Formats: sequence, C-alpha cells, structure tokens
Amino acid sequence: MPDTDPPSATLVATQNPIVKVLLHGHEVKRGVLIPLKTTLEVRDDYTIGRILVTRAPVKSANAAISLLRNLLPEEIVKGLPHLRRCSKPCDLPAHLKTRFMNESAQSRMIHTGKSNWIYIVVGPEAMLSRDEVIKELQTVEGLEEDVFLRSVPVPLIAPYSQMQAAMWTQHFWPALYRKNNPLGPHPAMVSRATEEIAGDTAVWMTLAHNVAKEAHSLGYGEPVGACIVHREGEKTTVVALAADARWKDQAKTGHTGNPMAHAVLRAISMVAQKLVKAENKQTQTAPTPILEFEAFQDSPILEDEKKVFELDHPCPDGYLCHGLELYLTHEPCVMCSMAILHSRMSKVVFRHRMPLTGGLSAEDRGGDHPALCGADGGRGLGLFWRRELNWSLIAWEWESGGFIKPLQVDQALHV
Ligand SMILES: [Zn+2]
Repeated sequence: MPDTDPPSATLVATQNPIVKVLLHGHEVKRGVLIPLKTTLEVRDDYTIGRILVTRAPVKSANAAISLLRNLLPEEIVKGLPHLRRCSKPCDLPAHLKTRFMNESAQSRMIHTGKSNWIYIVVGPEAMLSRDEVIKELQTVEGLEEDVFLRSVPVPLIAPYSQMQAAMWTQHFWPALYRKNNPLGPHPAMVSRATEEIAGDTAVWMTLAHNVAKEAHSLGYGEPVGACIVHREGEKTTVVALAADARWKDQAKTGHTGNPMAHAVLRAISMVAQKLVKAENKQTQTAPTPILEFEAFQDSPILEDEKKVFELDHPCPDGYLCHGLELYLTHEPCVMCSMAILHSRMSKVVFRHRMPLTGGLSAEDRGGDHPALCGADGGRGLGLFWRRELNWSLIAWEWESGGFIKPLQVDQALHV
C-alpha cells in the first residue's frame, strides 16, 4: 500500500455512526479501482486501414498541405485527427524509417543528419486517387521531379490512453492521444468518478462482504453481498444492504435457487420500498399494505440489513437508483446486470470477477473453458457501457490488496 493511504482507523472514524456499527470493528484499507473495459475497447483496438503519406521539403510543407486541403473534402482531412499530420523523418516508427531509407539515395539523404524534409499524411487510401494526388503535388516546389507517395497501415480509431498512443507511434504512425474515448466513457469522467469513490470503496465493500458471509453461514444464500450508497459531496449514506438469499425457503436440490433473491435484486427492491415509503409520507397516503413480495425476499433477513432498511432514503427524488453507487462482492449475472442498468444506477464496483457468468465485463472468456458447458453466460457482454442500451454506467473491478478474505463461489454460479 502507498504511504499516502489513510490508516484504517482514520477511514473508519470519518464514517457516520451507523456505518461504524455495521463495520463490526473490521479493519478497512484502501484497495485499487480498475475501470472496466467496454466491448468496443476490447474488440476494436486494432481496426486497421491504410493511409497515403507523402513528403516535402520543410519550406514547401505549408504549400503542400493547403493544396491537399483544397484537393480533398473536409471530412477526409479531418477524418484521422489522432494521427500527426506532419512528422519529421526521425519521428517515424523504426520499421518505416528503414523501409523508406533503403529505397533510394535521396531517401537515405533525407533520413540522415539534420533533415529539412517532412512527412505529411495525405488521407485514407481508399478515398483518394493516386494519380490526382501526384498530379497536384507535382506543382509544389521541390516535388516537380519525384512525388513520394506510399501506403501505410494505421489504426482507424483514436487511441484511448497515452500508453496506447505511444504504442501506435511505435508500431504504425506518430499518434496523438486527445484525451477522449470514442469507445467508452470519457477518460476525464472515469478519473473524476474514480477519485470520488476511491477513498471509501473499502468501507462499502466491507459491509457487502459482512452480510454475504452472515447470510451464507445461516444457509440463506451464496456468499454474495451488495451495498447501495448515496453520495453528495463529502456526505455518504448507505441506502440498502442485502445478501444473496436464493436458498431461503427453498429446497437445495436440483435447481439453482430463487433467482429473484439475488443480492442485487434484493438491494434494488429495498431502495424501491424506501421510495414508496417516502412518497406515502409526502402525500400522507396510508402505507401500502403489501410492499414486500415473498418471492423477492426483499424484506430484511439480517439484523444489519434491517438497520439500513429502517433509515429513510436521503434523497427520495428521481428514478429508482439514479445517481446511486452499488458495491458488490462479485460481478453480477446477466439478469442482475440488466436490472442495475434499468434501475439507472450510476456507478458499480465489484470485487470478484465471474469470468463465466458475469454480465458486466467485456473480455472474451474463452469458449472452450470446460466450466462454460451449461453456464449460460461468459459471453463478454460488457453490459455496463453499450450505446444500444441507452444508459451508461461507470464500472470498476476492485482489488482489496488482500485485507478482505476472498469469498469463494462456484465458477458457474450466476451471481
Ligand atoms: Zn444475479
């Protein structure tokens, strides 16, 4: 752990009294939040296309560029903003330097010593006519005799990190990281959100682990837990705490337990009940007689769940879980992932990845894994951030650094 981490006692001391009670004296240490990758980030890292590049003496570079601008439609010129339009010969990737240098005596001269030539990106090869480009460039001073035009493979999508831009610069063409991400949530949004929750994630994770262990030891469910938190500036409030209860009132034979009693569904349902309670209070309506449905097991079954359940919702406006944070011991199943999305949750953090059944992460799980047989999941759905689902959620995997004991479950379990 870095030295800058606040000691466990400080982290606990700053929590409100109910949270201190729920921690039951457990040690709390900061872990590490790792933002999940989106399906697009995982799959389209290297969509490669070809561009044409030329070169000109530095003094003629501006003339060549404005000529190309006139020659090509605006969208072609702007289409590859992540590639450096102009690059010095010494900035090209090593393999291109070697390739171009070996072409002719002039090429060798251009790449030796202090060069007064510059390479220029013309545009996507498929959208250009070579003959037309050559004809135009021949009018530029220094290019009359010999127009250099070569095809180079490049990634067509902008890099989403500084590191990736550096890699592309090395392998393809000098690239720029423009601090945006066409394949997922904006990096600035992710880092702001990470900073916001990093300080106390361990607290909510500990609460989720506590109920998971307790409900499991009582035979109610698998060792899985969920904690929902409301945050406003520095102030945080636990809104729901729920363990998995799939085996409560169920015979443990021949089936997978009650799917409606997964920890996530129970927690979301508890939030819904609080909203109904707040609305009844506001409209002075008599309490709805049936707020709880046995199939959902959404009334508290543990003392800790009850302590949270009895607190009022700190901000009972807006849609279901809009703006709330969800902390989970395990990556949720596809059903729960969709429920999280539909409830309009804003952030979700899980500790244990469920490579075969989880619905949030996007990595390919390897279809030949023996445990995939019969496990209806493991498809790398990356449900937390998909354009077609019309809701984006920021999601992280959390590494505790070993201070909370892992909660082992069957790999084929749908959390
Ligand atoms: Zn589930």
